[in-house]
Amino acid sequence: MQDYRQIFLKYIGQTSPEPMMLDITGAEGVFLHGPAGEKYIDLISGVSVSNTGHRHPRVVRAIKDQADDYLHLMVYGEFIESPQVRYAEKICSLLPPGLDTCFFVNSGSEAVEGAMKLAKRFTGRTKIVSFNNAYHGSTHGALSIQGSEQYKNAFRPLLPDVWQIGFNDFSSLGTIDSATACVIVEPVQAEAGVIYPVPGFLRELRRKCTASGALLVFDEVQTGFGRTGSIFACEKFGVTPDIIVLAKALGGGLPLGAFISSYGIMSTLSHHPVLGHITTFGGHPLCCAAGLAALEVILEEDLAGKAKTKSDLFRQLLVHPAIKEIRGDGLLMAAELNDPYLAAKAVKNAPRSGIILDYFLFCDSAFRIAPPLVINEDEIRLACERINNLLELVSGK
Ligand code: PMP
Repeated sequence: MQDYRQIFLKYIGQTSPEPMMLDITGAEGVFLHGPAGEKYIDLISGVSVSNTGHRHPRVVRAIKDQADDYLHLMVYGEFIESPQVRYAEKICSLLPPGLDTCFFVNSGSEAVEGAMKLAKRFTGRTKIVSFNNAYHGSTHGALSIQGSEQYKNAFRPLLPDVWQIGFNDFSSLGTIDSATACVIVEPVQAEAGVIYPVPGFLRELRRKCTASGALLVFDEVQTGFGRTGSIFACEKFGVTPDIIVLAKALGGGLPLGAFISSYGIMSTLSHHPVLGHITTFGGHPLCCAAGLAALEVILEEDLAGKAKTKSDLFRQLLVHPAIKEIRGDGLLMAAELNDPYLAAKAVKNAPRSGIILDYFLFCDSAFRIAPPLVINEDEIRLACERINNLLELVSGK
């Protein structure tokens, strides 16, 4: 059996000081398989991607069928590629009115870039407001609006005229004014450690944006496709943005991103200058076919509706004294621990307990629980037993 560890470290550009280094040879449903027969329960879904589980047969079928028809044909937006058109129509039918024109790209970062450009182009303004501890991606523009100085400083100069304000801080909304092109917000802050908006905050944000003519952008890259108990979080909180940004689960396990707005706003990208946003691979037919198949599964099996009950079961079964609280009422959860150093230890040791956990970028004291939405009751019971055992192990009790 080939050991890939050394060549992984040599040939694959590294960003993490301690990569997980798990060799995965197969995946099915909620399980990842290792070369020596290891079987891990995936409790992070590749960071909110594999909502329908790994290799869902409907998704695999759609990919194979599309591969039989065609792969890449032409740069985005020139040819009529039916997988794109069908998927865009389906997504828009599930979104509130006003979010009815879809621009496909390849990733979350790219979708955020597109949304910011669109807001600047539509409003003729430059100021962009985002939130402390927000994560919107790693490209230069997306990094500029990230809510953490630590990750940004080494890469300056970044985009000018960017302002960060406090999530859930009503008083900071005064920063939004007539110079503001857009405010971009994760309706549930994911990398901050699953922070929910307090009642009325998103509504007040919407009111403030409308009053000042700024576009409101929801980054639903992590919250989209059922993760928080409704297909999109904007529906859950009853607030409609001017632009919604999607990625991760959008591609059903393949790379795909999108920013979606009204026809009127989106059309500004097609003149003065023409070709206001260009992508070669955006909306790749294979990714759109996979995404549409995954979305159909999510809808037919009501995976969004079931996420709350499944989340409740996790909460009921995760009873270890090391756990201070569990945030999140869907399948995007943060387990906050009493000892702030324990979360990292738990994540590191999780594979030895047969589970995959992950940390958050901006919340050291918690670990992430975000399994595929298809996880069933038996699998949840097994996962919770393993998490409780793991916490017992790492807390030395
Ligand atoms: N927005 C949010 C909320 C995200 O969580 C992420 C990725 N973690 C991104 C944007 C960027 O997506 P990508 O990694 O696909 O560029």
